[in-house]
Amino acid sequence: MTGDAAVILIVEDEPPIRRLLRMTLGAQDYRTIEASTGAEALTALRHHRPDLVLLDLGLPDVDGLTLISKIREAGPVPIVVLSSRGDEAAKVTALDAGADDYVTKPFGADELMARIRAALRHRLQQQGADRTFTSGDLRVDLVRRLVRRGQEDIRLSPKEYDILEQLVIHAGKVLTHRHLLREVWRDESVDPQYLRVYVRQLRQKIEAEPSTPRHVLTEPGIGYRLV
Ligand code: CA
Repeated sequence: MTGDAAVILIVEDEPPIRRLLRMTLGAQDYRTIEASTGAEALTALRHHRPDLVLLDLGLPDVDGLTLISKIREAGPVPIVVLSSRGDEAAKVTALDAGADDYVTKPFGADELMARIRAALRHRLQQQGADRTFTSGDLRVDLVRRLVRRGQEDIRLSPKEYDILEQLVIHAGKVLTHRHLLREVWRDESVDPQYLRVYVRQLRQKIEAEPSTPRHVLTEPGIGYRLV
């Protein structure tokens, strides 16, 4: 274990799940701190300044969304939410309240690790205020508003570009439909169907195989993520 291993605060009231998380994260050389209530979580946050919070939404003493707001008030630490299968509404609300991502219980170790790495990277990218994004053959330059795939300049409509810009600014994070409607249309009441149409057009232009996208991924019932 190295001295600069990321520290992860596990907030979960069920001891068997807490133990599973501790073992899974420990095996990947993350350092862990544990809290079983919202009050313990806020104390641990102040004392240990973790690099990431893994947060069960169903805690005995505090509503998960209230806790997300309080963690956000304390600082920009990434939050990955643990939620139940099928509870799409809770995930969306958690993401809109400031969570970075979610993992559905029961989760696999690989998926958990991927989401944690993405959230840690997302935070690094925000700290660096990186204005370019490169992945495979795709390159987006937010300063010059240029999009290239390989050697080819891609021309996007203003809405297509605005959607891609949001995805680049928050690369790795799941953006909810509501977030994209608010930032791109300036109106959360717009039918998400419009968003689907524009995302389809965007994929036609930036994906090598639009039917099996590698950059703009769909999170069913929730939103989109750029990887
Ligand atoms: Ca619980």
